[in-house]
Amino acid sequence: MDPQTLFCPNSACPASGQVGKGNIRVHSLKERRCKCTVCGKTFAASKGTVFYRLRSAQELVVMVVTLLAYGCPPQAIVAAFRLDERTVLSWQARSGKHCQGVHEHLVERQRDLGQVQADEIRAKTQRGILWLAMALQVQTRLWLGGVLSTARDMQLMIALLQKVRHAALCRPLLFCIDGCAAYVRAIRQAFREPIHDRQPGRPHLRPWDGIHIAQVVKHSTQQQVVAITRHIVQGTQAGIDALLRQTQGGGLINTAYIERLNATFRSRLTALIRRGRALARQSTTLHEAMYLVGTVYNFCTYHKSLRVELYLPHNRHRWLRRTPAIAARITDHLWTVHELLLFRVPPPPWTPPRRRGRPSNATKALVARWCS
Ligand SMILES: [Zn+2]
Repeated sequence: MDPQTLFCPNSACPASGQVGKGNIRVHSLKERRCKCTVCGKTFAASKGTVFYRLRSAQELVVMVVTLLAYGCPPQAIVAAFRLDERTVLSWQARSGKHCQGVHEHLVERQRDLGQVQADEIRAKTQRGILWLAMALQVQTRLWLGGVLSTARDMQLMIALLQKVRHAALCRPLLFCIDGCAAYVRAIRQAFREPIHDRQPGRPHLRPWDGIHIAQVVKHSTQQQVVAITRHIVQGTQAGIDALLRQTQGGGLINTAYIERLNATFRSRLTALIRRGRALARQSTTLHEAMYLVGTVYNFCTYHKSLRVELYLPHNRHRWLRRTPAIAARITDHLWTVHELLLFRVPPPPWTPPRRRGRPSNATKALVARWCS
């Protein structure tokens, strides 16, 4: 237990979320509790991790969650480790929620996305069909998140595109999508900015510059693809070619990368297997399982096509393997699942409480010490 690596989780504390500032002390080694010297509150060292208030051994939880993240059926884990099925499912739910927090904190940050591909998967639950829409940054193979809905409609697309927007910088951006018409409207709706011109009423919304949209429509007869048509819905051929060269070395407009990612998710989430018998009970189960699989894919799995060749002296070379998170410069190393489950998402930065009149000297000192 190293207090220098922990932060105060109390959102009302000026030092909340700040690491290595010397305000955390060990309160009780036996109970594994720490104390913040700024707000005086004590907290469990495991607060903010998957292991908070869990009595089971961490090694066992990590092993079970790793197996779940790679698609091992919960019944196999129940049989192998002699655990209750409800325990296994609760660990899956807990780690899925934790991974969603990690994803929102680290992945949904603005970056130059280049090319984004989006697609949907049909999933089965006991209450009927669910659609899972997901997006991927092609250059880094980074999974940008997914959303679930009972219908393959505008709401689903808008929810997904809002996620992509949170992760996008206002730079040239190419969307490669399937023939679903709702995508085009959803992209146009998500990627626009209000212009505040001090006029009364709702501000005008201006679309982002440099948004290119290309559709890949597959025509099939008897479940066999017989023809593919590609067309540009928005943007210029020259702009699209430049973005394709930048992200995949040229080539045609395609949705191959997101389809490959769909295959990974299908193999790791039993409810997504085609013609399988496994049904998710509720959409929340699938939502949590999706975040677990997606975050382990982003942070804990090397991607073969992301490796780069390093040239060493004497004509030797070495392959540097990378995860999508390394390629996107979110981290510099492969995370273990244990590391992922131990990651603490810091609370939002502290802001001094609003009071009438001039701030007191004590408040000014706190702001100067912790908000700089
Ligand atoms: Zn504190």
